[in-house]
Amino acid sequence: MVGLLDGDDVNFDLKPEEQDFEHEVEAFLRENASPEVMDPHPEQLSQTVDTLPKRAFMRKLAERGWLGMSWPKEYGGGELSGIYDFVLTEALSRHGAPQPGKGVGIVGKTIIRHGNAKLKEYFLPRIIRGEIEFAIGYSEPQSGSDAASMQLQAKKVEGGWKLDGHKIWTTSAHFADWYWVGARTDPDEKHGGITLFLVEMDHPGLSIHATWTIGDERTNEVFFDDVFVSDDFVVGEVNKGWRYICEALDLERFAMMPVGPLEEKVAALVDWARNKKRDDEPMRKDPETRRRVAQAVTQLEVARMLQRRVISEALQDRVPTVESSRYKLYMNELGQRVANWALDLMGAAGQLKPGDPDAPVGGRFERSYRYTVVDTIGGGTSEIQKNIIAQRGLGLPRNF
Ligand SMILES: Cc1cc2nc3c(=O)[nH]c(=O)nc-3n(C[C@H](O)[C@H](O)[C@H](O)COP(=O)(O)OP(=O)(O)OC[C@H]3O[C@@H](n4cnc5c(N)ncnc54)[C@H](O)[C@@H]3O)c2cc1C
Repeated sequence: MVGLLDGDDVNFDLKPEEQDFEHEVEAFLRENASPEVMDPHPEQLSQTVDTLPKRAFMRKLAERGWLGMSWPKEYGGGELSGIYDFVLTEALSRHGAPQPGKGVGIVGKTIIRHGNAKLKEYFLPRIIRGEIEFAIGYSEPQSGSDAASMQLQAKKVEGGWKLDGHKIWTTSAHFADWYWVGARTDPDEKHGGITLFLVEMDHPGLSIHATWTIGDERTNEVFFDDVFVSDDFVVGEVNKGWRYICEALDLERFAMMPVGPLEEKVAALVDWARNKKRDDEPMRKDPETRRRVAQAVTQLEVARMLQRRVISEALQDRVPTVESSRYKLYMNELGQRVANWALDLMGAAGQLKPGDPDAPVGGRFERSYRYTVVDTIGGGTSEIQKNIIAQRGLGLPRNF
């Protein structure tokens, strides 16, 4: 049982049946290892389902019954503990494989709780069969950290709504099938004036433009021009969207922010230090190298423990808001430290990019140095995590 107090002991081990599941997933991932599906240098936010081979891989996960393991049986789920979703996500992330989090977690679980019969009938079977991909649209040019200030306008018309406006940072919009999007249905209310809609991504009123990040990943700007959405595709009740957005984040704790990519990076750094020579001297004898590697390994263990706190809280049906913020802040900033240390130790060659035959560790840390900046922004910036820890965890006053 992960992270639960057991008498006087804290026992972080998985139960035997959960360990069996972990071994089964590992064996499956080794059998299905493929450069078309798995990113050899994954980062925390990077595993999308953006190509046909990755979609085929997702359907294989579905055939094994691994999508929707914690959903109720009446919707095709397995009614298993969320720990199984966690074990699956961690294993996928370690191997750089695509992840089902958005469909199964954010969209699927919210539709199960609040969706009308039509949404349930259409979306839930397709999600659980691994046939459908979603993009999530909350952020706008003037609404990022304060997403509840979103202004994309939804006007009531006969039989539905007309959406007009502009979203930014919609990752996956260029390949997703459906858009899970928040819009303002009441201009006089802030949190109580937002409604969630599902929009077909190939709607003629949507235009999608690429935004490339410093970490070489594509995200998108999306413009809405008279986009009609039928009443059937309103999620839950009108003006309750903000509640569902927050709830979905809480439901998503198991599938968010795996530590696997960081574990793999620290292992690659240790391996490099163990085998590399400089001026005919093994790097492993260099005191600075030993100090940095020891720090990386030790701090990785701290990140794992913080993550287990999140899971332990969620398994007891508590909302791990402060625990999640502590873990995200620490893990993302550790990712940056590890990339910095690696580049310092590797010297000038560390700056060679992936694809250059002379790049140490295949250029992994050069890319990571850039990508880890992105990790500290997506899913809520480090400053916002610090605010949550200060206000909700420590009871300090708001900073503005
Ligand atoms: C690669 C990537 C993928 C993304 N994918 C999606 C997606 O799929 N869907 C989606 O909806 N969004 C997505 N986002 C958007 C992401 O959630 C926002 O970028 C993030 O919430 C920050 O908002 P912002 O960029 O508008 O920055 P701002 O909110 O404008 O913040 C600017 C700076 O001010 C700081 N700041 C803001 N408010 C405070 C405060 N109260 N106290 C202290 N400091 C503060 C921030 O920390 C930051 O340093 C993605 C972002 C990135 C980078």
